[in-house]
Amino acid sequence: MATWLETKNDDGDLAWQSYRMYDSRIRQHILPVFGDEPVRTLTYPKLRTFFKDTLPGKGLGDSSIRQVHIALKGALNVAQRDGIILAHPMVGIKAPDGRKKRTTEEVKELRQAAKYLNRYLLAEAEKIGESARWLLAMVGIRQSEVLGMTDDSLVTRRSGNTRTRRVVISHQLARVAGEHGCGEWDAKLGAFPCGRKTRGCTNPKSEAYWALVKTKSESGVREIVIPEHVWQVLVTHRAAQSKLRQDPLFNPVAGEGLDKLLFTVGPPTLRKDGNPRTKSYLGQPRYGQRDREQLYGMIEAFKKDSGLTVHSLRHVATTMLIEAGASRESLVATMGWSEKGADQQIATYSHNDRAKRAAGDVSVFFDMFHPAPVVAPHQNDDPTEVVPDDDEPPASLQTVSR
Ligand SMILES: [Zn+2]
Repeated sequence: MATWLETKNDDGDLAWQSYRMYDSRIRQHILPVFGDEPVRTLTYPKLRTFFKDTLPGKGLGDSSIRQVHIALKGALNVAQRDGIILAHPMVGIKAPDGRKKRTTEEVKELRQAAKYLNRYLLAEAEKIGESARWLLAMVGIRQSEVLGMTDDSLVTRRSGNTRTRRVVISHQLARVAGEHGCGEWDAKLGAFPCGRKTRGCTNPKSEAYWALVKTKSESGVREIVIPEHVWQVLVTHRAAQSKLRQDPLFNPVAGEGLDKLLFTVGPPTLRKDGNPRTKSYLGQPRYGQRDREQLYGMIEAFKKDSGLTVHSLRHVATTMLIEAGASRESLVATMGWSEKGADQQIATYSHNDRAKRAAGDVSVFFDMFHPAPVVAPHQNDDPTEVVPDDDEPPASLQTVSR
């Protein structure tokens, strides 16, 4: 298992988060069951039971099972290549589809959400002085990417006479788990010798810490061009944040770049008894949970039980961009998707308005053999004019076809 993981890592195939994820899947789910068995004795029925019963029985979700499947299959590929096994025992064992499929219904809901979020969310954010943070969410930037932004994430690029304002996404905020120092992972016990979670290890090798790590995948590194009025909000925030750093209570955590975060915990409030707090967290990274709660609080003000999460805002952004006719290329550049996954993403979000997206191209095609009649401009455009229902052809078309 370890060989597979290290090889894959050396090949540069794995983003940092993926490495941690596989490492933990292997330790938690594969080694406790098969850790003591020679590879040769792993048979199809055993593995089938493992994937169909054991893992779901442990309450593991589809996407986690899928990750275990990838790791084990990869390791067995290595064993087969090296001649340790002659046949691959996992042939015919399928992984559940870990990528959650979005239904037409969900996409519709996101479209609805886009409407009320556009109208109210940023107004709420402004009330609490958090416009910059939530504007960035509305552009589809991931939570960990926003919370990991530093002063130099906002840049102006010049080329000839044009100047563009940009948000550079190159890293993200991560909470790195600590490591046990009490000994090796015990596969039989399914635990470390101390029997505790990392946080409670009796002899910890390292404590959990904050870090800025490379963004999710290479394609996640990107620059998003920002309109001038949004840029103003962002640089105003940056100025306010650098002022906070002059505060004597400013107390950032150690680590490269972490003293230059754009979004952090604010100045301490007074205690209930009116006395100042003894410890200041001013300038420390924002926990994802705090950030989420802020969003829920704002949405709650205008929409009860929206069911939206911070991540939903990214889906809302995708939906709106597609609606606005963004090209595949623009979507990849803005959302930071991998080239491989882009078509799948686009197909999902455009699910129920493919015809509408095709409308422009199709009408050009019709124009080639059946040009639309030139209509004199309306005398007085009545804004209250009732737009005909979609399945009723407009009056002009009816006349022509008669
Ligand atoms: Zn321990």
